[in-house]
Amino acid sequence: MKNDGGAVTDLKNERQGRTSIKASYTIYVGAVLFLVLAVAVVLLSVSLSSCHKSAMRVDSRSTVSHSLKILKQPLVILLSADGFRWGYQWKVATPNIDRLKRDGTEAYPGMLPVYPSITFPNHYSIATGLYPAWHGIILNSFRDPTDASRKTFFMKNDTNPKWWLGEPMWETVVNHGLKAATYFWPGSEVAKGKWTCPPAYCHRYNESVPFATRIDTVLSWVDLPEAQRPSLIAVYIEDPDAEAHTVGPDSPEISDAVTRVDAVLGRLLDGLERRKILQDVNVIMVSDHGFVGTCDTKIISLDELSAAANTKLPAEWIESVTPVLAIRPPARLAAKKLKRIVAALNAALASGKVANGKFLKVFVREELPARLHYSGSDRISPIIGMVAEGYKVVVKRPSGPDCGGAHGYDNTLASMRAVFFAAGPRFARGKQVEAFVNVEIYNVVTQILGIKGVANNGTRSLTKKIIR
Ligand SMILES: [Zn+2]
Repeated sequence: MKNDGGAVTDLKNERQGRTSIKASYTIYVGAVLFLVLAVAVVLLSVSLSSCHKSAMRVDSRSTVSHSLKILKQPLVILLSADGFRWGYQWKVATPNIDRLKRDGTEAYPGMLPVYPSITFPNHYSIATGLYPAWHGIILNSFRDPTDASRKTFFMKNDTNPKWWLGEPMWETVVNHGLKAATYFWPGSEVAKGKWTCPPAYCHRYNESVPFATRIDTVLSWVDLPEAQRPSLIAVYIEDPDAEAHTVGPDSPEISDAVTRVDAVLGRLLDGLERRKILQDVNVIMVSDHGFVGTCDTKIISLDELSAAANTKLPAEWIESVTPVLAIRPPARLAAKKLKRIVAALNAALASGKVANGKFLKVFVREELPARLHYSGSDRISPIIGMVAEGYKVVVKRPSGPDCGGAHGYDNTLASMRAVFFAAGPRFARGKQVEAFVNVEIYNVVTQILGIKGVANNGTRSLTKKIIR
C-alpha cells in the first residue's frame, strides 16, 4: 500500500510540474515519460499487491512458514486436563498457565462444553467439531437401538469404529499425508480412515502411566526428524477430574491436582524451550467440562417420582440416571404415549410430592431446548431429564451421606465451563476472546495446519478472531 501511495504522490507532483514548465519541450517529453513510468509503477504495484494478497489468502488457509524460526511445518500440541473448571487457575499459583495466557490467547470467561458436559462426548466434540448427536458419543455409556447386537458402548474399552462417527482431527491430519500422534485422547485408539492408531504414534489407554512419561513421549515425538514428526499431538491427563468426583471441586485435594496440571504444562513448555522451538509450536490447553459440588440433600429419587406420577419406570427403561436422566420406553410406544409419560412425570415433579422435584425437568427428546443440539440421534433416549446444578437423580434415596462433585449439567452453567489457553506463532499474545463452544477447536487446528477440514458444527468466527 505504501508503494501505491508513493506512486500516486509522484504522479501528482509530476502533473504539477508539467503545468508549471509547459514551455520547455524537453521537460515536457521528460514529464510524459515520467508519467508513463509512474503509471507503470502504479500498475506494477497494484499487480504485486494483488499477488501479495493472494499469497496471504493462501497463507490463511495453509501455513505461515515465514513465522516459523526452526520448524519447517506448523505443529499443534493439544493438551486436555480432564475436568479443569474455568477458574481453577486461580486456586493456586499456576505459573505455567499464566505463561500460556501471557504469551497467547485465552477464552474468557472460559470455554463452553457441549451438552451433556461429560468426558467422552466433549473430548470427541473437541476432536471432531461435532455435537454429540452428530459424532455419536452421546454419553459415556449408551446403547444404539438400531444396533442388532444390543451391545452397550462403554467409554474406556470400546474402540469399535461403529460407535465413533465423524472425522476426528488426527484422521483429517493423516488423510492429508501428515503425521498425527495421540496419547490417551478419548476416541484416538479407534481406527478410522487412514488413522490406524499406529503404536509409534498412538498409546492404548493405561491410566497408570505417569503424566511426566506422557509429556516426555510428546517431546520425543517433537524430536523426530522433520519427515516423521507429527503435525498434531493430542495428549490427555486425568487430573483434576478423578478426585473431584469424590471430594468435590473445592477441596484442598483439587488445589493439589491443579498444581500437578500446571507442572505438566510446565514440563511441556520447558521441554520445548530447551529445544529452542517453543516460539514455533502452537500449544493449546483445554479441558472438557467444569465441576460442581453435590451432596446428599440434593437428591431426586426415581422411586418417589414413579409413585407420585403413578407411572411405572421399569429398570430396563432407564439408560442413564444422572445428571442426564435417559429413559427409553419400548419402541412400540407411540409418540402420544411418550408425551403422556413426560406430562405425568413433570406434573408429579411440580406437585411438591417428590423431594426436590422442582429441580428436575423431563422432556420428549425432540422438545429439549434447541441450543443443546441434543436430539438428532436415535442413540439419545426418547425421554431426557435435565437436573438442576448440583442435584442428583438416584433410583433409591441413599441411607448415608453421599457428597462429592459432578458434571454433565446444562452446558451454559458457569460451573460447567472449561478452559482454553493457547500460545504459539498463530495466536495473538495476551488476548482474551469471549466464551465459545468447544466444537470450534477443530477448525482452529486444521487452519493452523493448513489443511482442509471436513464439514462440522464449528464456524469460521473463532478462527477469524484468534488466528493471526
Ligand atoms: Zn471429564
